[in-house]
Amino acid sequence: MIISVASGKGGTGKTTVAVALAKSISYCQFIDYDVEAPNADLFLKPDIKHINNITIKQPYFLTGLGKSFKACSDFCHYNAVAAIDNKVIFFSELCHGCGGCILVGPEGSVRERDIKIGEIRKGFCPPGINFLMGDLQPGSMRTTAIQNELEKNIDHDNHVIIDCPPGNSCSMVMAVRSSDFCILVTEPTPFGLNDLIISIDVLKNLKIPFGVIVNRFGIGNDEVFKYCRSNNIKILLKIPNDIEIAKYYSQGLSLIDFDSLWKNKFVCIIDEIEKEVSVK
Ligand code: SF4
Repeated sequence: MIISVASGKGGTGKTTVAVALAKSISYCQFIDYDVEAPNADLFLKPDIKHINNITIKQPYFLTGLGKSFKACSDFCHYNAVAAIDNKVIFFSELCHGCGGCILVGPEGSVRERDIKIGEIRKGFCPPGINFLMGDLQPGSMRTTAIQNELEKNIDHDNHVIIDCPPGNSCSMVMAVRSSDFCILVTEPTPFGLNDLIISIDVLKNLKIPFGVIVNRFGIGNDEVFKYCRSNNIKILLKIPNDIEIAKYYSQGLSLIDFDSLWKNKFVCIIDEIEKEVSVK
């Protein structure tokens, strides 16, 4: 069973929940899909055993041969190539590595090379969490290319917890799309509700069942609760706005380390999700 943990609004406690779930199951695969800012390793403290570089192909242009690269510039839908006479300006960050300019450009004058866009790191957290994370190279915009590599490594025979990137864009969709169930973490504020409603729309479109965990319960107002009640959306858990929990977080400790009673709560949530998923 694959459970993703997502939130429309950043900073609501997604990683807190994902780490607590993984530590409650104890034997699972944990994947940090937030490749632009991965941080679950700070809490799970995996022993990293393998680091794989992720590369993409990008063109380079041999401009000393007096050839025109106008065909490359005309072809590139991403505007990654600007050609004036036999001069070329290449915008590496816009290039999607489709290889088209090599096919249409002057023969032998456009070549390809590997460019590193990030890393996949694999490790282990005792007693039984197989840890996987993607880390995008600073400056690179190929988020989903790294996430594609993570997707190839999903262990479908195991429980899998996916810590998603914040927001509701492509990278969030990539992270939740393999999941059997998605936990949406929100906070009881107007921003929290606004972004929760967008996330719910995304999951409904993807036909992924979901439930809600409200973090920082006690701040804001009760609009999130009213919305969930009137739309028949299950609230799986409320986590109080507690300075002691925040102190644990700031030291790289999880909810389970804060109070072992949380473990029972998360085990109950997993049981509940398992029942719901098996019925479908
Ligand atoms: S490889 Fe594709 S995206 Fe990159 S510059 Fe060439 S045509 Fe444009």
